[in-house]
Amino acid sequence: MIQNNRLTPIQYQENFSDIHPPYENITAAKVDANRCLFCYDAPCMKSCPTSIDVPKFIKQIATENIKGSAHTIFTSNIMGAGCSKVCPVEKLCEGACVYNLLEEKPIPIAKLQRYSTEKAMANKWQLFQRKQSIGKKVAIVGAGPAGLSCAHSLSKEGIDVTIYEKESKGGGLMTYGIAAYKVTPQFCEDEVNYILSIGGIEVKYNHELGRTISLAELQTNYDAVYLGLGVGVARQLDIPGEDMDGVVDAISFIYHLRKNGYPSVPVGDKVAVIGMGMTAIDAATQAKRLGAKEVTMLYRRTEDEMPCTKHELDIAMLDSCEIIWLAAPKEVIGINNKVTQLVCSKMQLGEPDASGRRSPIETEETFSLEVDMVIKAAGQVPFEHLITENGITNNKGKIVIDKNCATNIKGVFAGGDAVNGGKEVVDAVQAGKDGAKAIMAYLNIA
Ligand code: SF4
Repeated sequence: MIQNNRLTPIQYQENFSDIHPPYENITAAKVDANRCLFCYDAPCMKSCPTSIDVPKFIKQIATENIKGSAHTIFTSNIMGAGCSKVCPVEKLCEGACVYNLLEEKPIPIAKLQRYSTEKAMANKWQLFQRKQSIGKKVAIVGAGPAGLSCAHSLSKEGIDVTIYEKESKGGGLMTYGIAAYKVTPQFCEDEVNYILSIGGIEVKYNHELGRTISLAELQTNYDAVYLGLGVGVARQLDIPGEDMDGVVDAISFIYHLRKNGYPSVPVGDKVAVIGMGMTAIDAATQAKRLGAKEVTMLYRRTEDEMPCTKHELDIAMLDSCEIIWLAAPKEVIGINNKVTQLVCSKMQLGEPDASGRRSPIETEETFSLEVDMVIKAAGQVPFEHLITENGITNNKGKIVIDKNCATNIKGVFAGGDAVNGGKEVVDAVQAGKDGAKAIMAYLNIA
């Protein structure tokens, strides 16, 4: 049965408490900071998409220069606080730490980064001085990581920025699409406010491109436009029964949870989650934490090809989610339009496809799962219609940009998920920085 409000307030609080508790004090942080070898040509720094100077900020913690440490981090990544909680560090900085070669635990870079950046946010340290306005105006569409990062970089240089955001809050995927035990909605709001506190950035919420504003208007009223739209709706499974009651998409499920609070979200007793990316893991673990009795994750390939990290998989397994590899949904069956069963095909692996991963091939064997809820997490698709109708060159909805982040339309730039189809938050932050640099060159600002 699908129902909401399954748990007590205390159970909700326990189930959604911070998965990575922070350091309790500077002494604990310094113990880890002092283990760092402060490597020359540090591999941790090279593996960070925003190139945070990791040895430098860790050294600053070791010498109790927390403000300096936060400045080092935010100079490269203005969302360094959020990224310290959501980055898949085991495949980025911590995965590259030289301690791995010594078969020892890597430096907990994310935890150290969190220490400095949270101190900065809590104390409202304003670490950047905005230059005086130079009379140039830039419009940004989307207050997600790419848009905010672009806005902050531009504002520092004295450009007046207006962000148009379709939601009522900023942060994009960070605010609306990530498990609440990693980042709370309150943290996301605080982070957005902290970024905006530099000044010179106005955010117009509940303004959507193609509805309340048009690209033509933005082109007329601003010196340049940056599109940080993110990606759009969930990918359909295209199987019979997909529109029955009880079939939801993971993005809407997580959005609802983060926007309206845990008790308001209906969840089934027996839930199947389709997919094995980070969003699938976040949906599965949160379904369990909302009170689902059984959660089964289905993936059409094997663990070797899964898009999530091993760390993410471990979270799902620790939450007692069942995993079925080599299984693809074939049909949703129900009674009175309510889901009762999910029929799946057993798959096998064939030759590598365009992604380089071995492609799943349907066998003739099937099996059925008794379920009352199906959560689809098979990825998101770009805002193809919106992009095409505005005459923007695209590749199946993904905006095509040149090496200067420019679209085919003069003065219109783009970056982040709308261009790459969906990567990590940290990649979007870097895209925003690149976009700002390109816009400044376009506006002839040194
Ligand atoms: Fe420190 Fe590891 Fe980076 Fe070396 S690779 S600087 S030890 S965090």
